[in-house]
Amino acid sequence: MASTKIVNFIDGSFMPPIDGEYMDMVEPATGKVYGQLANSNDKDVEIAVAAAKVAFPIWSSMSASERSTLMLEIANGIEQRLEAFAEAESKDQGKPVTLARTVDIPRAIYNFRYFAGLILHHEDISTQIEGACSYTMQQPIGIAGLISPWNLPLYLLSWKIAPAIAVGNVCIAKPSEITSLTAHLLCEVISQCKIPKGVINIVYGQGHRVGNALTQHPDIPLISFTGGTATGKVIMQAAALHYKKISLELGGKNPNIIFKDCDLEVAVQNSVRSSFANQGEICLCGSRIFVEKEVEEAFVEQFVAATSKAVVPGDPSLSATSMGALVSKEHYDKVMSYIALAKELGGNIIFGGDRPSDLPERCKDGYFIAPTIITGLPPDSRVQQEEIFGPVVTIWPFTSEKQVVELANCNRYGLSASVWTRDIQRAHRIATHLHAGTVWINTWMKRDLRVPFGGWKHSGIGREGGKYSIDFYAEQKTVCFATDLTLQ
Ligand code: NAD
Repeated sequence: MASTKIVNFIDGSFMPPIDGEYMDMVEPATGKVYGQLANSNDKDVEIAVAAAKVAFPIWSSMSASERSTLMLEIANGIEQRLEAFAEAESKDQGKPVTLARTVDIPRAIYNFRYFAGLILHHEDISTQIEGACSYTMQQPIGIAGLISPWNLPLYLLSWKIAPAIAVGNVCIAKPSEITSLTAHLLCEVISQCKIPKGVINIVYGQGHRVGNALTQHPDIPLISFTGGTATGKVIMQAAALHYKKISLELGGKNPNIIFKDCDLEVAVQNSVRSSFANQGEICLCGSRIFVEKEVEEAFVEQFVAATSKAVVPGDPSLSATSMGALVSKEHYDKVMSYIALAKELGGNIIFGGDRPSDLPERCKDGYFIAPTIITGLPPDSRVQQEEIFGPVVTIWPFTSEKQVVELANCNRYGLSASVWTRDIQRAHRIATHLHAGTVWINTWMKRDLRVPFGGWKHSGIGREGGKYSIDFYAEQKTVCFATDLTLQ
């Protein structure tokens, strides 16, 4: 098979990086290099900024309806090649192709469709006081710098591009250097659409080069970042120099709380998903499971049985596979180091804890870790406090609602939480007290794009979703005029 070579997409054209540097693209399931990715730098970003500046007045002066139509064309273009996108996402990220086919790529299509629709129905407000009337308008800002991570590559890239351009901005996006393949396919789709050149530019490469050039560039007034909490701090510091608008969607270490009165079977099935979906590489995964003491034994037994049945690591390119490979050797080593730490701290690895034993020959050098369940480690241990971002969960018992709220909140992250109970009053009470941007009651990962999404504490700053995305990606303006000159 011919080796893949990915170059930048700037001003509607595919452009090799100025300095001609490339980096390896590795397939996580095999550990083998399968392509080359542009390893761009600030010079490439400068070219993209120049192209975006030319495109901005053209795009921002189009009507919402014209922009909407052109965005729908992109959504349709992805949909027509859904299978190719799904296979590429699986190969590049390591996730099961079925997951990419049913979740990642459909959601990317929906992101374009949703924001294409939203701008058609957007309403500004108007208010009146004695002698004056005010009305508001939301206007595009200019060039949006969009930086995304490797776990849900196209899903999160489109979550940024779609609202940014919907409101009339142009953008320069930088996907993770570890997973840029579907971004490249998106560029192929865009190049065949009628959207003006320079509206969407994609510059590939490393965070400290391309990402840094975006966050430091004086002509990029807005940065939307999804990624690790430590990187978020660096970005915030760089953005502060130019008073940029920023949105930070960062890490998580989310509690999954099981009360004894819940439907245990439903809680178990969903806890398997929330623990191990996408190899546990979802910021919303419930990696800290707290179980009410009376049902601890039953939960653990059923959870282990359900995991061993439903989560079988295998070749992600096969439709039957439910769990793929971790994204990179570096990440594999990081997750393994936490499993070693758990053993060192006296934790009991009651399931998994190592490489799966029966991988197919093609995958023998891939970055696979079996779903891993740990008990006996207290909530203040590093394994329970730090984000592992892999197929590793801890289980810890609790004895009262008050205690579990304290345990859940005793962490620097605050992205999401799940609560399993049949007691509706308790569900509302606990939702009020949890420190999290999203609390799911008897469900997990249900995402309505209209509601605000983001994290508390070290899980982020700002909210995106529906009108909250428009608030972020656009500037607000209030116009106030006199309605009665005698009242001045
Ligand atoms: P990361 O922070 O290493 O990288 C994210 C992106 O930032 C990449 O594109 C990277 O190249 C870029 N980057 C790195 N250093 C940079 C710098 N100095 N300046 C500018 N850009 C830079 O994160 P990751 O390892 O790719 O992703 C995993 C993390 O993302 C986890 O912590 C996970 O929880 C988080 N995440 C959060 C959400 C959310 O919605 N809150 C969603 C998905 C992932």
